[in-house]
Amino acid sequence: MRKLGRRKFVKTIAAAGAAFAAHPSASAALAPRTPAGDSFDVVIVGAGVFGSWSALCLQRAGRKVLLVDQYGPANSRASSSGETRIIRSGYGSKEFYSRWVWQSLPEWRRLTVEACQSLFHPTGVLWLGKSNDETLAQTAVTLSRLSIPFERLSHSDLAERYPQLVLTDEMAGLFETSAGALMARRAVQAAVTQAKKEGAEYRTGFAAPPTGRGRLVSVSINNQPVRAAAFVFACGPWLPRIFPGLLREKIVPSRGEEFYFGPPAGDSRFAEFSFPTWIDLVSETFGTPDMEGRGFKVGIDLHGPAFDPDRDSRTLREDSYRFAREFTARRFPGLKDAPLVEHRVCQYENASNEDFIIDRHPDHENVWLVGGGSGHGFKHGPAIGEHMCARILKQGDAEPRFAFASKGEVQQRTVY
Ligand SMILES: Cc1cc2nc3c(=O)[nH]c(=O)nc-3n(C[C@H](O)[C@H](O)[C@H](O)COP(=O)(O)OP(=O)(O)OC[C@H]3O[C@@H](n4cnc5c(N)ncnc54)[C@H](O)[C@@H]3O)c2cc1C
Repeated sequence: MRKLGRRKFVKTIAAAGAAFAAHPSASAALAPRTPAGDSFDVVIVGAGVFGSWSALCLQRAGRKVLLVDQYGPANSRASSSGETRIIRSGYGSKEFYSRWVWQSLPEWRRLTVEACQSLFHPTGVLWLGKSNDETLAQTAVTLSRLSIPFERLSHSDLAERYPQLVLTDEMAGLFETSAGALMARRAVQAAVTQAKKEGAEYRTGFAAPPTGRGRLVSVSINNQPVRAAAFVFACGPWLPRIFPGLLREKIVPSRGEEFYFGPPAGDSRFAEFSFPTWIDLVSETFGTPDMEGRGFKVGIDLHGPAFDPDRDSRTLREDSYRFAREFTARRFPGLKDAPLVEHRVCQYENASNEDFIIDRHPDHENVWLVGGGSGHGFKHGPAIGEHMCARILKQGDAEPRFAFASKGEVQQRTVY
């Protein structure tokens, strides 16, 4: 994926007479910028991690960008909300995603510097699994091939290094040394702030779904038409509601839960400098150490029941709580009596095979849909933004795994 400076981009587009210029509104997109009216090169609906990075990348490519969100960047109903998200390169044999993470990591670091906030915490990521686990074995092969640093840890290595952990005899580990955790809500808000600093406009508003067929001229935002040459709908779990005919069966939002347990007073064994971010393949759980005093996070990586991001209840479910509490007491006995200091219900937006959806709307050639983060999308924000930018500006090829055509209507998880 290439990054283009504004001058180089404009030159390239102009010289190639790119297809972007082959429609009436494109001349407006390439004309000198004027402050007049509600007209943009690109309108992006949804300021979650996908939309905010798309806005930042398009702005950096010299476009005039409007980013809109109905409730605000990384709001509490969005999939990008909450305290933290894991960033790790391990994806079993799915090398494509390992590469994307490796490409995204420096961009997250750059944003950390630009925002003057600690958005990326280099805690490392510890994978735990059975010593013969296929995902661990394939991850080691892929990371070696890409020269991404990691260590293999035997059961006794783990016992020595992390006395906080209790593992069954057949378990072993893999430690990704340059991975870690992203401060999710703050990181999305920082990406939006950065996009604004670089010239993008942000508004809070509700965008109505496009109607009819053919080229879209404007989108209605809070009942006011806003014109643009291209439109991106990065609406996370709302996508199937906005485009029911197209996505009702292809993206299924499901309830996800995260629990934060408060370590005992004065006990730093679970703080980020003592324990890494972790993924437990045996128990299908994941979490972060106690970061910024929020508590030790335990997330359940199972697809819960179908979930409506606006209407469904986000209160604690007794069965999930019991599962998280029992798992924590078993794996981290030092937290056996730790109080629950925070609990969050978020939703995964599962594409049928968990590869993202990044494709043109079949009925509107200038409307793009970006979503299906499927519980693993956050870390890829920068790579998704660059890919989206390249697609809109005709600088990059389509990625078949993101096409509508590659998505079935039955949930079959293939990406972990
Ligand atoms: C519990 C949990 C844990 C996760 N853990 C990880 C992890 O460790 N690592 C990782 O990489 N990923 C993880 N993920 C996945 C990741 O968080 C998501 O894939 C990602 O945040 C999706 O971002 P998004 O921008 O597509 O959607 P969202 O963040 O939901 O953003 C969509 C936005 O669109 C707006 N919107 C919708 N409709 C409209 C409209 N009509 N008008 C205006 N605005 C609109 C919404 O208000 C919302 O802000 C996790 C997800 C969950 C739920």
